[in-house]
Amino acid sequence: GGTLPGAWVARWAADPGRTVLSTPDGPALSAAELADRTATAAARYAAAGLAPGDRVLMSAGPSLDLIVAYVGALRYGLTVVPANTAYTARELAALAAEATPALAVVDDAARALGLPQVTGADLKGLPAPAAGIALDGVAPDDVALIVYTSGTTGAPKGAPLTHANLLASAHAVRLAWRWEPDDRLALCLPLFHVHGLGVGLHGTLTAGASAFVMPGFDPAGVGAAVRDHGATMFFGVPTMYHRLAASEHLRDLSSLRLAVSGSAPLPADLHESVAQGSGQRVLERYGMTETIMLVSNPYDGERRPGTVGFPLPGVDVRLAPRAGGAAEIEVTGPNVIAGYRNRPDADAQAFAPDGWFRTGDLGTLDDDGYLRISGRAKELIITGGYNVYPREVEEVLRAHPGVGDAAVVGAPSAEWGETVAAFVVPADAVDTGVLERELAQWCADRLAPYKRPRLWRWIDTVPRNALGKIVRHELVP
Ligand code: ATP
Ligand code: MG
Repeated sequence: GGTLPGAWVARWAADPGRTVLSTPDGPALSAAELADRTATAAARYAAAGLAPGDRVLMSAGPSLDLIVAYVGALRYGLTVVPANTAYTARELAALAAEATPALAVVDDAARALGLPQVTGADLKGLPAPAAGIALDGVAPDDVALIVYTSGTTGAPKGAPLTHANLLASAHAVRLAWRWEPDDRLALCLPLFHVHGLGVGLHGTLTAGASAFVMPGFDPAGVGAAVRDHGATMFFGVPTMYHRLAASEHLRDLSSLRLAVSGSAPLPADLHESVAQGSGQRVLERYGMTETIMLVSNPYDGERRPGTVGFPLPGVDVRLAPRAGGAAEIEVTGPNVIAGYRNRPDADAQAFAPDGWFRTGDLGTLDDDGYLRISGRAKELIITGGYNVYPREVEEVLRAHPGVGDAAVVGAPSAEWGETVAAFVVPADAVDTGVLERELAQWCADRLAPYKRPRLWRWIDTVPRNALGKIVRHELVP
């Protein structure tokens, strides 16, 4: 049992003077100030006529105000629906139509929604705080958050996460990563996905630690967080490590206690170059909206590149056989949602008869139990009856010095069912005819014939979403 506010309020009471949140431009909040300001935020929601159980949509860039508005909502018993800040008015309206919030908190008045709305995460546009409201009365099975999946494989699905789901995952990573009150997280992830919110922020508050909240990612900002602001941990997505590795700030990571990567595969060679340039063995972990965190490389012991490690405390993982000898990762644990919002069709696909959750990811286990993610079931290319994992081909292509980035998809083929198509971003201005011949030979030296790209397309950038995932359906060969 237990709830997020229950766990956090106890931490604040135990050490009220401790700095919990700080920022590059100065403002910071102690535990006592956070307790106070979130109570005021809760009282503003009450004054605005909201009742516990109502939904509130939040779409704003990372800031102390947003965190206060968010934690205040949870303390009052509201369900928060975070929305991608890159959404246009049209996309936001579609999400609001699905989630039916009673109020929207946005940081841009231009994105008017036609529902009660306050512009500014400071909530000053709401009525003056009501007196005498009840706080922290939620139950473990109450829904704290409805997070929409990233929409990598189709329309985003709403995942209702209960306090019990979220607290289980926060405790699991706290234990696994030895998260202590003295830690300070360099937090520059968006706060509308579970990576930034469910792992970064919840982990910080559950551990009684602190976060250095940045408006967004850039290598210099991360360097300064470590050098000048005492950050001990950094959580990033692979694209961030890629940009750090290409910058002079990589070496700033050397004094961190822990650097974690997730949300998309961390290429083994990038793991290696980060280690060489900073001494950090990045700890890769695996999770998803519907489950928060699932599997992690060990804190002590080998952090094996190309793998995501072992199940976190409380999580069970099994591999279920699929067509063509592949295996889908299925999971169960107190962190897993009970079902999607308004999507019985998706529930029927996602839950096995015995209740285990089908992740949609394919995996294998090393002999000593490290889990490897080979790719997504939906993205598997089947050519002439053979399975091709885009990730494997992409990593071979990216290892070629003439390749800046690459993405691989299946192209329909009358003869083979599908063939392998490669979208390549050349590293420099080159003759693509020459590069194609070089890459064909490079692949022939490293990949079985059926895995080699048959179609080559040259592009300027690989389409990726905010968390660095390849948006493959935009790549039509
Ligand atoms: P949708 O479910 O809408 O198609 P999505 O699956 O990308 O979108 P998220 O819940 O944000 O939405 O992402 C979870 C997915 O991210 C996982 O299922 C997995 O495919 C991928 N992922 C997360 N961590 C890793 C990792 N360390 N290595 C490889 N893939 C990862
Ligand atoms: Mg998914």
